[in-house]
Amino acid sequence: MKKIAVLTSGGDAPGMNAAIRSVVRTCAYYKIDCVGVYRGYDGLLDADFVALDARSVRGVINKGGTFLKSARCKRFMTPEGRKIAYDNLTKAGIDGIVLIGGDGTFTGGLVFNSEYGFPVMGIPGTIDNDINGTDRTLGYDTALNTAVEAIDKIRDTAHSHDRLFFVEVMGRDVGHIAINAGIGAGAEEILVPEEDMGIDRLVESLERSKKSGKTSSIVVVAEGDKIGKSVFELKDYVDENLEEYDVRVSVLGHMQRGGSPTCYDRVLASRMGVKAVESLMEGKSNYMVGTIHDKMSLTPLEEAIKGKTKLNKELIRVSDIMTT
Ligand code: ATP
Repeated sequence: MKKIAVLTSGGDAPGMNAAIRSVVRTCAYYKIDCVGVYRGYDGLLDADFVALDARSVRGVINKGGTFLKSARCKRFMTPEGRKIAYDNLTKAGIDGIVLIGGDGTFTGGLVFNSEYGFPVMGIPGTIDNDINGTDRTLGYDTALNTAVEAIDKIRDTAHSHDRLFFVEVMGRDVGHIAINAGIGAGAEEILVPEEDMGIDRLVESLERSKKSGKTSSIVVVAEGDKIGKSVFELKDYVDENLEEYDVRVSVLGHMQRGGSPTCYDRVLASRMGVKAVESLMEGKSNYMVGTIHDKMSLTPLEEAIKGKTKLNKELIRVSDIMTT
């Protein structure tokens, strides 16, 4: 392996810069040339490459976002587009690529490899923690801490005004962010896609809370929650059915995708970058690097994109007990 490329694709996540830095520094350590690709697969099609050496990634480990930029690329979904990408890679003398992204990015890498046999290695970069084969995805820990910090602040104002807040957090169709941030921020209720508590039980629970002497409440709602109502509809419903509460809504949104990565994410990114480059050097391809029980692991990309990591049911029990 003489030259390795690295790109970030799909939704960005804190820690992507730290992962790029790790790939670049590992290449430098092994005296392999490293090339950054701008704007995900778009940059492969446009040959938008930049040579990166150990010094070009100084000062990025603590920065959110991705300095290589990220994009969604429709052209890479066509055989014609992938042919251009392949031609550009071979013209530049690149013989392996590290893909930092989510399941869509990995699917693209698999299709590309099946057509051209080009070595690809994935690093799971997404705040949702929804990829099989790793304890945690890159950016998840930072997003959790951002969400908890925001909910703490919302609680201050909820408490001052005796209000009930519905706080929507990200996580797509899994409840990892909601359950952990909810427990961490001491939420009264946590609504996750994995358990449909039903609107009536929610209202009953809020009524009980009020009777038990609580004057303010926080309900954390996962964006993919199955109760069948948006946070705004939930507010309307509670407004109509629970007069005792003054209800507000807060959607945390994209702030959860930004910010300086936590130490955990920086270390995880550094470990994943080393493992990705070393695996390519060993002739491996079509794997995603991750950690399983805190040991570095390789999971075939086919498996990584198939399942979603399951919500730890123990957390639901803990949350039930904590909200007594
Ligand atoms: P996120 O977690 O934010 O969704 P992701 O990596 O899943 O991240 P996607 O937008 O789904 O993000 O995919 C990123 C890019 O991967 C797409 O824009 C496209 O270029 C490429 N891609 C996705 N699916 C395929 C496919 N079936 N064939 C070829 N390329 C694909």
